[in-house]
Parts: sequence; C-alpha cells; structure tokens
Amino acid sequence: MSKLVNTYDVIVLGAGAAGLFSAITAAKRNKKVLVIEKSNKAGKKILMSGGGKCNFTNHFVDPDNFISKNEHFCKSALSSYSPQDFIDLVDSYGIEHDTKKRNQLFCVNSAKDIVQLLLNECELHNVDLIKNTNASKVHFNKVESSYSVSTINDKSEDKMITKYITSSLIVATGALSIPTLGGSGFGYDLAKQFNLSVTSLRAGLVPFIFTDYMSEICGRLSGVSHGIRISCNGQTFEEDILFTHRGLSGPAVLQISSYWKEGDHIAINLLPSHDANLLITEAKHHSPKLLLRSFLNAFMSKALVAELESLLWSNFSEKPLAEWSKAEITLIADSLNNWLLKPSSTEGYRTAEVTLGGVDVHQISSKTMEVLNQPGLFFIGEVLDVTGHLGGFNFQWAWASGYSAGLNT
Ligand SMILES: Cc1cc2nc3c(=O)[nH]c(=O)nc-3n(C[C@H](O)[C@H](O)[C@H](O)COP(=O)(O)OP(=O)(O)OC[C@H]3O[C@@H](n4cnc5c(N)ncnc54)[C@H](O)[C@@H]3O)c2cc1C
Repeated sequence: MSKLVNTYDVIVLGAGAAGLFSAITAAKRNKKVLVIEKSNKAGKKILMSGGGKCNFTNHFVDPDNFISKNEHFCKSALSSYSPQDFIDLVDSYGIEHDTKKRNQLFCVNSAKDIVQLLLNECELHNVDLIKNTNASKVHFNKVESSYSVSTINDKSEDKMITKYITSSLIVATGALSIPTLGGSGFGYDLAKQFNLSVTSLRAGLVPFIFTDYMSEICGRLSGVSHGIRISCNGQTFEEDILFTHRGLSGPAVLQISSYWKEGDHIAINLLPSHDANLLITEAKHHSPKLLLRSFLNAFMSKALVAELESLLWSNFSEKPLAEWSKAEITLIADSLNNWLLKPSSTEGYRTAEVTLGGVDVHQISSKTMEVLNQPGLFFIGEVLDVTGHLGGFNFQWAWASGYSAGLNT
C-alpha cells in the first residue's frame, strides 16, 4: 500500500453536474482545482437524463419550482446564475437545443454534448479530474484551517491511498437516487461529521406502485397515456399520466410523487378541461341514445374508458344516456373529475430521479453555499435539501449552486 500527498486550492468531491460546474467556476478564477469521482465516468446522471437528451434547464425558473424546508434558500444562487447564462454557454459550444413544452430545454443530439462541454471547460481551465477514486475520509485541521481528503483508488493494484490537502472543500456527491449512477450517502455522513443535520430523505420524481385493484388495471393499460390534472397535499399539476406494468408513471405522477407521503390519496381529474357533470348532462340531451362509453371515447383512449366502465358503471354499460338519472350522472361525473387512488408505495430510489431532503440548508450560506461556522466547507447540488420539479430545474440548481460555491472558494 502506498501513500501520496497533494495540495490544491479547491477540492471538489463528485464529478456530477454541480461538482463539475463549481470546479470550472473556481478554476476560471485561477484556482488550482481537483475533482475526485468514484465512478469510471464523469456526469453519469447527465448522460442518462431527459431520455438521453438532457433537459439541461428551463426558460422560467422560479423558487416555487423547488422543495425545501427553507423555501427562500435557493433564491440567491438562482438569481446569480440564470438559465440564460447556461444557455449562452451551451450556444458558445454550438450545441443544438430545442425548447419543448413547459419551457424545457433539451439537446437536439445527445446529453453527451453537455458532458463534453463540461469536460472541455475543465480541460481549458486546467482542472484535474481523477476517476475510479472514492473519497473515503475527510479530516479538518483546525490549526491550518485545511481539509485533508483520503481517497482509495479501487482500480489500482495495491489499493493506493492518497491524501489531498485543501483550504476549500466542495461536497457535490449527490444523493441516494439510482445507486448505479453514483447515488451515495457520503455527503450526508460528511455533513453529520461536521455537526450539520440532515433532513428526512425520501425518493422523489418517482412512479407509484399499487397493491389493490389498480395494480391489474395498470398492467392491462400498460403503455396508455392521458392528459390529466393530478393533486395531492395542496399541490396540483396538469400533465400526462402513463400506465405501466408496474403502476402509474408519466410527468404528472412524477411531479406529484414529490408531495405524496405514504398513506395519502392522489386525486386524478381525467377530464381536466371539463365539468364532467355538465358535459354528460348536455350529451344526454343532444345524443340521448349514446352509451356513456361511446361518448367518453371522444375524450380518452378506448382501453381506458373500458377499464373505467368495468370499475365505475358496469351495471349501466348498455344503458343509453337518456335513461341515466341526475344522481347517477353526478356519481360518475364526480369519479371522472376526482378519481381518488391510494398508491401503496413508490418505486423508491431504484428509479427515482431525485432524493427529497438532504443537508439542512439553515446551516449553509445561501449566497456562497459555505457552511456557516465551518470556513472552507461547501455543499452544492442534490446533496442539499433543495429539490426541483421535473423540467430542467434540478440541473439549473446544480449549475447555480455550483457557480455560487465556485465563486466563493
Ligand atoms: C434518470 C434521471 C434523469 C434525470 N433527468 C433530469 C433532467 O432531464 N433534467 C434535470 O434538471 N434533472 C434531471 N435529473 C436530476 C439530475 O440528474 C440531478 O438533480 C443532478 O444530476 C444532481 O447533480 P449533482 O452534481 O448534485 O449530483 P450527481 O449528478 O448525482 O453527482 C454526484 C457525483 O458524486 C459521485 N460520488 C458520490 N460519492 C462519492 C465519493 N465518496 N467519492 C467520490 N465521488 C463520489 C457520484 O459518482 C456522482 O458522479 C435526472 C435524474 C435521473 C436519475
């Protein structure tokens, strides 16, 4: 076993979106910067993001798009590095991008373009990047006000332990979601080592699972999507829902999952643009011979209508609208506008796009991302208790928080 010691102005733990961006920002200020990454590739989550096209930001980023115990915390960083700042950088590399619905920006070709941009910037500004290297221990030297980071290189034959010394340590090790893409609890352990609290953690932007009758319905409807309004705990999103063989997914479900807690119901409005009662009552008058399923087939897929029929009005399936009473219409209309479902759980960290909760931001400077009372120690990106909605907000948080830390090392 061999030991080496190296000194840097700034050491960044984790070569994800936030870590790389903070490294570039610090290096542009002529700091000598090292990034330590445990896996064999930088930016693994970026590569997988946005279905391989990376939804790298959103034209309209607002603090309301973020969940945190301190809703004001994200404001300062988000205003110091805007979506347009990142778009300008992307444009300077000639990377083609497209604005999709809800102001989401995606690469036209591949998420690889964003990773390549970040790696180019690192090279241009002489950032050292070491991969396959696990940061395993951090020690703070009070007298010298410096941090030593011990690393283990898993690929080297003698499991070489190296020590790196720095006065500015940026923790960008991400969170628990998708362990195969680098998700790790290292940042939380480090926070606790420095007496910072970590808020409760759970999977967010994640599909729902059902163990009741919905499980079979979802299986039969696997692949069907439909535009809905979904609500839970005072939050509402209007987006698509997707039935899968495991349960419910699609952007509407991923968004609301970040507000859902075990035991909660979700309310789905299957006809978000209509008052179902009014709609069916009108249909009863102008097309009295029509069956309810034939009428609803104009608004959603036949397969979905067939499942709803066997669930909600199987006894009336062959009854023309003219024969439906006011009370019967009201009952069905209420279910169509307010279908209450109770997920048994989510798919968990295995498929969650984000981890809700993280290092408590009350102990961090919102301007610099530095730990209050612990000079030189910074936390950025997803390891913090700041979680964005779906739509490019999480990467914008990674760029903005990385920028704030990189400027203040
Ligand atoms: C499938 C998927 C799709 C997504 N799509 C989008 C999208 O389109 N738009 C969007 O805005 N957000 C998206 N997200 C969320 C977004 O990817 C994350 O919010 C963002 O990557 C967080 O960046 P980060 O740098 O904080 O953490 P990460 O990207 O997770 O990076 C952390 C890095 O630290 C490394 N690391 C961990 N522990 C150690 C250690 N002890 N030593 C050394 N290195 C370590 C990890 O290997 C990893 O490379 C998606 C997430 C997933 C999982």
